[in-house]
Formats: sequence, C-alpha cells, structure tokens
Amino acid sequence: MNEYAAFCGYDVNGVDYFDGLRNVMKLILGNWKMNGRHQDVEQFLTQLSDHGAHLTQIGLAFPSPYLALTRAFSRLNCSFGAQSVSVFEHDGAFTGEVSAAMLADLGATWTLIGHSERRQYAKETGEVLVNQARAAYRAGLNVVFCVGEHLAERQSGGHFSCIEAQLSELVAVWAEEMPKEIVIAYEPIWAIGTGLTASLEEVEEMLSFVKRTTRAALKNINKEDACDSIRALYGGSVKKDNASALLKLDGLDGLLVGGASLKFDEFYAICLAR
Ligand code: PEP
Repeated sequence: MNEYAAFCGYDVNGVDYFDGLRNVMKLILGNWKMNGRHQDVEQFLTQLSDHGAHLTQIGLAFPSPYLALTRAFSRLNCSFGAQSVSVFEHDGAFTGEVSAAMLADLGATWTLIGHSERRQYAKETGEVLVNQARAAYRAGLNVVFCVGEHLAERQSGGHFSCIEAQLSELVAVWAEEMPKEIVIAYEPIWAIGTGLTASLEEVEEMLSFVKRTTRAALKNINKEDACDSIRALYGGSVKKDNASALLKLDGLDGLLVGGASLKFDEFYAICLAR
C-alpha cells in the first residue's frame, strides 16, 4: 500500500490506495522553517529510519536546499515538501527563484503555500499565492494551503470572514487545476510559535467551517467530486502534550507542526500520539 503516493496526489497503477483510509489516518507534517544545517537534517532522518520507518502519513518540509539529502532515505514512508515555491513556472531569468519543477526534481511532492510567515515577511499577497498554487499543481506538487486569522480578527469576531476570504484565493486555481487532494491547514496566526494554542472548541469549529466553505466553493465551480478529498489540518504551537487531544477532534485530518518538529523525539511523540 502506498498512502504516501496517494497523499501526494499520485496514484499507483491508477488505483487510489488512500481511498477508504482517508478518514482514519491522520497526517502529521513538520515545518522546519529556516532552521537547521545539513547535519541536523541527516541526523533527524537517520533517527526516523531507526525508529519511525513504519510511520506513514508523515511529511517534512526542510529548508529547500536540504531536499536533496532526502534521496538517501527513500525507503522511508515519509513524504517531503517545500515551504514555498516560485510563481514562475518555466526556467529563465528569475534570479533567486526556485521553481516547483526544481523542488519536484529534488524529491518534494508537496509544498506549503500561504504560510502566515510568507504572507507577512515575504509580502505574498493573494495574487502571488494563486500563481504559486497553479505552478505547484502543474509541476505535480500537492499544495498544503495555510489560512489563519490575526488575534484582532478573532477578538472582533472577524475570523470566519478572514478565513473565507483566504480560501477563496484558491478557488480560481481549482477551476483550472484540480489536485487529487485538497489540503488546508488552519493556523491561527496568534498561535504560531507563541505557545498559545487555540482551544479544542475553536479548532473544531473552524475546521468544520473550512470544510463547509471549501465544499460550497467546489460546488460553485462544478467540482463536487473533489469534496471527499478535502483534508483539514490544524497548526499552531502543537506539541507532544496537546497532540493527542487535538487528534481526537472531529473533522481534524492532521497536524502541521512547526517548532516541535525540529527535535526528533518531540516530533516522533506527536506522530505516535492517539
Ligand atoms: C507552523 O510553522 O506552521 C507552526 C504551526 O509553527 P509552531 O508549531 O511553531 O507554532
């Protein structure tokens, strides 16, 4: 069985191996952000080979230069992703850019898009995110689309409209390029790297809203068939201590883990949490 291939949007011999397991298995993705050196990545992957080779449905987004190191660990069931991608699809005079095709060439099968740190520090606007998502899908990368509200939006009750507006950014892309699986990560900005986690009720309520809104958007563009493929993840100060409570939530299909993915023991404990 190759759940990894199915998550990545590819089927093997035309069979969707993930079908039927989709509601059972939770996806645990790690985002290393701009951390680590090649020795850290190798050590982490060696530990994963020694202790967690059996784990499926996990994925890691190391800084993209280190993607090449993952080749030596291809026996792992883990998938590898990128943290962002260029809007430019074709090779050319785009200094500093790394295309989706290059990331795929290095072994990435998915990429984060719309992470709040990219929206904030790299000033990636809705238009940029749409072009990145299109480029990623066209190169065969799946997209983990991140959405999240600021604390002020949550406090003023504007969190649902904020998330709805962010989700609408992708709908135009789905009209043209439909992935095998739609993955949305709800990451309230006030909970990222702050130690604050959204309450279980807040997470459950928002994931249900994310799925409802995404389904409605898919219906509007006559892509109802894709409704069953939606997976909603939560991210924001996930640790081994809160993972199991989160993983029990209705409607939660997985976790996106930032800081706690940097240490193998912590990440491994999150992967084993039930
Ligand atoms: C993230 O970077 O996506 C994230 C959720 O970070 P952290 O777990 O550190 O809050």
